Amino acid sequence: MTTDPTTSVLDTLNTDESRRDFLVKFASGVFAGLVAPAVLGGVTNIHAAPPPQAPGLAPVPEVPPAFAGEDPIIRMMQDLRRALQKPMEQRRWSMIVDLRKCVGCQGCTIACITENKLPPGVVYRPVITETRGAFPHPTRRFVPRPCMQCDNPPCVPVCPVNATYKRPDGIIAIDYDVCIGCRYCITACPYSARVFDRGFFYNDLDGGAREPFELLPSPEYRENLVRAQGGSPIGNARKCHFCIHRIENGELPACIVSCMGRAGFFGDANDSSSLVSELIGQPNVMRLKEEMGTEPKVYYLV
Ligand code: SF4
Repeated sequence: MTTDPTTSVLDTLNTDESRRDFLVKFASGVFAGLVAPAVLGGVTNIHAAPPPQAPGLAPVPEVPPAFAGEDPIIRMMQDLRRALQKPMEQRRWSMIVDLRKCVGCQGCTIACITENKLPPGVVYRPVITETRGAFPHPTRRFVPRPCMQCDNPPCVPVCPVNATYKRPDGIIAIDYDVCIGCRYCITACPYSARVFDRGFFYNDLDGGAREPFELLPSPEYRENLVRAQGGSPIGNARKCHFCIHRIENGELPACIVSCMGRAGFFGDANDSSSLVSELIGQPNVMRLKEEMGTEPKVYYLV
């Protein structure tokens, strides 16, 4: 492959040899990025419903030398399982998005919708497109925006029935059985991270039948609720919960494993040897609306 910086990627693929090189590297990348974590790490498919409670976590197998150091998913899984050995109150689950790597494909948004069986109008992890600069040098940046799992969450004290609360590991959860749908928390969140479930289904407008996945139970909070039966979480506030049901099963959140650019990172920031601790220590890290004192646990590399 040429090293001339003025040559475009397409130009570099103009010879048989280069095309072969590219295809080999692409195939290796797909294996390392998508297949290896699922096979080597013992991760269940993100579409599969998790078992109710894992009695014990299988160790993460050694990575074959060909892939060692290539995929942060393997390291994050090892970090995750190490964190699960500690008492819950000693974990500090944190997420990092490398904005330099995010290409705005919205794969994480779709993975989250699929994982949590989200209905129309309910999105936990939108990817916001930010346009910066002006002609002739405008640039675009893509910012995934899950719930920030704030250490000082403005959404919690406004709840009149204590339906939303901070868990010992720092995740902000919602008890759907207690939530009365007043929506105070939706107004209080400075990140617009909460949405109201209005009870829509995908084929409502044309009077069609429920889609098969709408009849499946959602693994959220391990409650296995089926919206099609008419009860919660219809009429409740909803939001990202870092896929509690997955991480407590030794699996990374759906948005992290689905990111084809490996722009997402997850782990225990209380563990100084974890990958997230390493990244949070970088000088180019930032958080959204830090001036509000919410202490978000979602960080961005810029
Ligand atoms: Fe609450 Fe919003 Fe902070 Fe999430 S981002 S914890 S919903 S205030």
